[in-house]
This record gives sequence, structure tokens and C-alpha cells, in this order.
Amino acid sequence: MTDIAKNMSEVRKAISRAEQDFGRPPGSVSLLAVSKAHPAERILQAASCGQRHFGESYVQEGVEKICSLGQDKLVWHFIGPIQSNKTRLIAEHFSWVHSLDRSKVAARLNEQRPSSLPPLQICLQVNISNEPAKGGVALTELPALADTVNSLPQLRLRGLMAIPQPCNDFERQRKQFAAVRNALIQLNQYGHRFDTLSMGMSNDMRAAIAEGATMVRIGTAIFGPRPKATPS
Ligand SMILES: *Cc1c(COP(=O)(O)O)cnc(C)c1O
Repeated sequence: MTDIAKNMSEVRKAISRAEQDFGRPPGSVSLLAVSKAHPAERILQAASCGQRHFGESYVQEGVEKICSLGQDKLVWHFIGPIQSNKTRLIAEHFSWVHSLDRSKVAARLNEQRPSSLPPLQICLQVNISNEPAKGGVALTELPALADTVNSLPQLRLRGLMAIPQPCNDFERQRKQFAAVRNALIQLNQYGHRFDTLSMGMSNDMRAAIAEGATMVRIGTAIFGPRPKATPS
């Protein structure tokens, strides 16, 4: 067994265990393997263990991998910061975007999504700690952005994504994820039917599942430490 096969199996076990421990239905948490900074052959190793969904954070690097590995068997998610001059590449190559946080970028992705493809699946990234320097829309501005994105035909709003401040305390991790969950509940009280909470990484996956994550984004626990990233 390769290290990746072994890691994949451990991560899947940890997800099932957390589902069970926190009263989540079995299979209600899906796994996004975050492959940024890792080469294509390591993605293939994970794919050979049945993994289909992969997350990339850098546009150029992600598009190269998509072009070499294809989209028949694999589903590609863009999870990194979005520069507006890179929206076309994202709209043309990815199936999901988790990091949308402003209406200008939403309009561009909508316009640039080829009509031959299904709508781009969208999560809005929320900034729960309200740190101005961090990516993500402020909670106060979330309802307006959700309405905007919801009205764009080539985008399909599925839910929310968050990257909380890193910390090792389980209860503090839970509190931050609870804020994201509450934001989704509030949006759905306005009549939306959003079904996706993209939250939880290698270090805080269990707390995220406790608070309702439907998709965890796991890099290090599957692929090991990342070689130094080359931003594109
Ligand atoms: C890199 C990254 C991850 C994966 O983080 P790990 O700690 O390696 O599991 C998840 N989400 C986002 C947005 C990332 O950039």
C-alpha cells in the first residue's frame, strides 16, 4: 500500500467516526482532497483509491493538472483566492468554486462560464472572524451577495465555505464553525435551499463535522506536507 492509500483510508475512517460520534448520518460528509502543490502522479494515486473530488488553490497549476488528468473521472474544485484577471480560466476549467467573496468576480464567472457546461457550483467564502485582511465576505454583507449570485444563471449557489483562524482547541474550533452553520441556517430562513457547508481541514476536521460540515477539504492528512508552493 502506498502512503497515500494508507492516508486515504485513515482519513475516511476518521470521517466515519466523527459522523457517528456527532450524530451525523453515515455518508453525509464528503471528502475533497486538496492536491495543491502536489504533482499529478500523487493525484492519480488518490484517484486509484476511489477519490473523485480534488481541490486546487492556484489557477495556473490547477488548470495544468486538469488538462493533463481530465474531467471524465475527476471533479475539480477551485478553493484559492480569486484575482479578477484569472476568472476566465476558472470558469472554463473547474466544476466548483469555494472562494467567491465579491459580486464583481461573480459577474465575471457568470459571463465567462461556457454555455456548453453545467452552471459553476458555488460556495461563498465567509469571513467569520471579521479580519479585514482575510478573504471572505463579512456576515453583514452575505445576504446581498447570496441574492446576487443566486440571480446569475451560469452560477449555482450551493452554500458557504470558511477558513477559521487556526487554533488547536477543539471547543474554540467548534465555535467558529458554529458561526458558519448559523449563517447558512439564516440564509435558508430567507427561503434559500443551500445544502453545502465546506469547512474543516486536516487540523480541525472533527470539529467541523460536529458543526455540520458537508464537505471537508483535506490536504496534509492525505498527501503529507506540501513542498513549498509556487503561486501563479
Ligand atoms: C490548503 C488548503 C486546505 C487543506 O489544508 P490542510 O491543512 O493541508 O488539510 C483546505 N482549504 C483551503 C482553502 C486550503 O487552501
